[in-house]
Amino acid sequence: MNAYIPDMVVSGGKVLSGAAVIVHEGRVSAIGNPSASVVATRLPSQAILPGMVNAHSHAFQRTLRGRTHWRGSTGATRDDFWSWRHQMYEVASRLTPESIFAASRMAFLEMALSGITSVGEFHYIHRDTRGLKYGDPNEMARQIIRAAREVGLRIALLRVVYARAGYNAPEDPRQKRFFDSDPGEALGATRILAASTREDRAVTVGLAPHSVRAVPLDWLTTLAPEAKKNGWVVHMHVGEQAAEVEACLAEYKKRPVELIAPLLLNDKFTAVHAIQSSPEEMELIAKAGANVCACPTTERDLGDGTFPADQFLTRKVSVALGSDSHATIDLFEEARELELNLRLAQRARNVLAQRCDGGEGVASIASLAQALWQCATSAGARSLGVEGGDIVVGAPADFFSVDLAHPSIAGATAEDLLPTVVFGAARNVVRGVWVGGEAIVKNGQHAKQAEIIAAFSKTQKSLWP
Ligand SMILES: [Zn+2]
Repeated sequence: MNAYIPDMVVSGGKVLSGAAVIVHEGRVSAIGNPSASVVATRLPSQAILPGMVNAHSHAFQRTLRGRTHWRGSTGATRDDFWSWRHQMYEVASRLTPESIFAASRMAFLEMALSGITSVGEFHYIHRDTRGLKYGDPNEMARQIIRAAREVGLRIALLRVVYARAGYNAPEDPRQKRFFDSDPGEALGATRILAASTREDRAVTVGLAPHSVRAVPLDWLTTLAPEAKKNGWVVHMHVGEQAAEVEACLAEYKKRPVELIAPLLLNDKFTAVHAIQSSPEEMELIAKAGANVCACPTTERDLGDGTFPADQFLTRKVSVALGSDSHATIDLFEEARELELNLRLAQRARNVLAQRCDGGEGVASIASLAQALWQCATSAGARSLGVEGGDIVVGAPADFFSVDLAHPSIAGATAEDLLPTVVFGAARNVVRGVWVGGEAIVKNGQHAKQAEIIAAFSKTQKSLWP
């Protein structure tokens, strides 16, 4: 049993002053005064916050950082998501089990250092560089899980299903590593992975039909009941690009969410991006209690568009966050972008504030930040179907501490701690990170930091000769 005694604790969206967080066997056993028999760790001039949940990651895309920010990189006259994808495919075609491990470990290290304690990895590189099956169908998935566990993060491995390039689209040989021959192959691999990781409570498995572009309706008809039977969460890219909606209308005469609603929409489903959703599609998502996952820093990097957080929060949809392509890894930034992008678009301030007061007009200085904070924490846990996202009795002891003397948040009080952190914190305010009560980051450093960075730097040289 251990007691952590910071100046402030964020619990249930509220800030408690002078409370201790008592941890027993990896869980929060009490919040309050530590008894004399408990080992006390004082955290002066620090606040403890719930670990953040990164609900959408493609860890290997950390290798693309810095490589795609010039027009000549694609040869296209106009750069957008589709020309960026050429470069992403290029690096995906070169990855080995060793290099995907090194790249994932780097991405997960950066997550841990920034206060993230759980990640949902949307994983689609299943086959070897020739497009043939590995001896172990989950070879690459296991490398990613190993990377997360070595860093100390919890991971939900969302095993992607990929069937085709698209409706009436010619085969793209660069996608050969993603394909399953049939839905049974994907389901079989997912079942094996789930069974073999059951022992580790920090690892869960979900199913991720890539998108309506890459997975046709007859496959979804097979996959949906199996996901339900196995209790898997289901994640899917939905409406990231207008072209995807147009292709779906051409193939099925329905928009993506309309198409999948009868099969997939429920509280274990997450629509990733959902930028192109029509009001009717948003209603369907809300009615089903399904989740959406916004990835604002990737969406801005790729020029996807602005996530309509106001539309979804008005409908009381749970909005999770993901760092997706890892153009940057900073969930504070993802959270604040939900609001700040709308300010730019609507030329107004506190756009989401009204949506956060439950329509009752009971606003406080912290209500908007509380709502955004929920997106970075408990909404992510809901989306991944895992515990966590808050510091409450019985929850896993997943949390991090911030330095209250850090220049970016200095002067914060219990009243304005959350808005100060959400709207102003630099990523390096993080001092300590605990997962299941184990410290994985101490004094802003991870024990394996130097080794992980050195291995990744070497990997980058081999991937980009
Ligand atoms: Zn994605």
